[in-house]
Amino acid sequence: MTNCIFCKIAAGQIPTKKIYEDEDLIAFHDINPAAPVHFLVVPKMHIPTLADCDENHAALLSKMMLLAPKLAQEQGCGYTTNGNGNGAGGFKTLFNTGPDGGQEVYHLHLHVIGGPKPWRGQR
Ligand code: 5GP
Ligand code: ZN
Repeated sequence: MTNCIFCKIAAGQIPTKKIYEDEDLIAFHDINPAAPVHFLVVPKMHIPTLADCDENHAALLSKMMLLAPKLAQEQGCGYTTNGNGNGAGGFKTLFNTGPDGGQEVYHLHLHVIGGPKPWRGQR
C-alpha cells in the first residue's frame, strides 16, 4: 500500500521505537501513548481492518494475540499469578475497527496498553 503509514513502518521507511520484528509481524511503541506502556502489534501484510479478516488470517491473528502477553511482560506490564488465584499487573488489548470503533489507521493493529489503570477512559 503506497500511502499507508504502517506499511512504511513495516518496510523500515519511517523510523519507530521498535520492540519486536519477525517475518510476519512488527511491534512498536505508539507515538501518542494512552498509558505508561502502549505498543502496537502490526502484521507486515496490509489488511485494512479486523472486519477484512477471514479463515485465511487465522494463524496471523493467533500469532498477534499470543505475542501480546510476551511483549507486555518484556515491557513491564505482564500479568502474573502467585498460584493462589491472586493476580497482579496486566494490560488491555484492543482492536479498533471502523469509524465508530475509533480506527484512525486503516492497517490492522492490536493495541496493548498497560501500566497502572491503563483503562482510564482515553482509549
Ligand atoms: P487506531 O485509532 O487506528 O486504532 O490507532 C492508531 C494508533 O497509531 C494511534 O494510537 C496513534 O497514536 C498511532 N500512530 C499513528 N501514526 C503513528 C506513527 O507514525 N508512529 C507510531 N509509532 N504510532 C502511530
Ligand atoms: Zn498498510
